[in-house]
Amino acid sequence: MFWDIEGEPYTRAPGSDFAWLRARILGGRTNAWARISLRMSEWDFKPRSTDGMGDDWPISYEDLAPYYEKAEAYIGVYGSKDNIASTPDGLFQPPPKPRCYELLIKKACDKLGILCVPGRRAVITQPTHGRPPCHYCGQCERGCITASHFNSALVLIPPAMATNRLEIIPRAMAREIMVDGAGKARAVSYVDKTTGQEKKVRARAVVVAASACESARLLLNSRSEKFPNGLANSSGVVGRYLTDTLGSGMTGYFPQMEKLPPHDDEGAGGMHMFIPWWKWNQKRDFLRGYHIEFGGGRQMPYLASVNASKGLGVN
Ligand SMILES: Cc1cc2nc3c(=O)[nH]c(=O)nc-3n(C[C@H](O)[C@H](O)[C@H](O)COP(=O)(O)OP(=O)(O)OC[C@H]3O[C@@H](n4cnc5c(N)ncnc54)[C@H](O)[C@@H]3O)c2cc1C
Ligand code: SF4
Repeated sequence: MFWDIEGEPYTRAPGSDFAWLRARILGGRTNAWARISLRMSEWDFKPRSTDGMGDDWPISYEDLAPYYEKAEAYIGVYGSKDNIASTPDGLFQPPPKPRCYELLIKKACDKLGILCVPGRRAVITQPTHGRPPCHYCGQCERGCITASHFNSALVLIPPAMATNRLEIIPRAMAREIMVDGAGKARAVSYVDKTTGQEKKVRARAVVVAASACESARLLLNSRSEKFPNGLANSSGVVGRYLTDTLGSGMTGYFPQMEKLPPHDDEGAGGMHMFIPWWKWNQKRDFLRGYHIEFGGGRQMPYLASVNASKGLGVN
């Protein structure tokens, strides 16, 4: 997983710094994500109409809202209803209590008139579909032994396997989607990474979900007489105009926290509070606004600390 994978044919264009964060693993990047589960707002779907930047989506927030609800009900998300325009409320389980440093930040935010509210994360605080609630060990980066946080491999795959209607083919790298004479997807050709052999599976329907960049690559690789520019690419824009959300981090030292009595800061292994987008709807010399995710305290060393020393990063 992550930027440098041994044996991956991955190069950067000269002068480019783009880090393509990929996951070659069952469950994809949900194995590493920080579980922050925010709904997109109606403005996110209509950016062109709102501030002139980007393009409006052909669907709206109302179209997607029932599916957010289904997902939240199944996977379990903690949070609180705060009626924030940039981040609509969802179906939340009770959030864990704020930690000391989070209360400190909240106090400062209140003074500045900036919203600081309970985090929204796919970690359960109530029993959910046979999964016990989080026991606040703070070791999520090792994988949650009780499946109290969401990742696809722990939460979605086991019930799918239990139906006996799912077959997982490990180490299979899809190379091309093959179409029939009518242009319908009918098979996927893949490389078995253990043997290097090319194999094929037939299908009535093919769902392309290999992540944004990999899906684009797979579609572009799927050229045929009918689709010489690749599948679903009549516009010619597959794999172009990709963008990313930029962030930056900083660390601070709070002397107020120096002499606190010993206490347990581990919590649900991530934010119990966060600062949702603000100033995103005000006109100034740049568009949009700010959003802060913060962490701190006195946690035990965890797997990411070990990885950091090896140059690997985890949330
Ligand atoms: C460290 C980290 C922290 C993050 N934190 C958050 C967060 O807090 N909140 C949030 O909303 N998002 C977060 N994200 C982003 C989020 O995890 C991803 O946006 C999301 O998981 C993408 O899902 P996906 O299914 O599109 O792709 P992926 O999760 O990348 O899954 C793609 C799957 O396809 C497989 N695959 C790829 N190519 C092929 C191929 N050719 N043949 C066969 N299989 C293939 C891969 O093995 C993988 O299993 C984070 C991401 C990272 C890395
Ligand atoms: S803190 Fe993380 S690893 Fe520990 S129980 Fe909660 S979700 Fe699981």
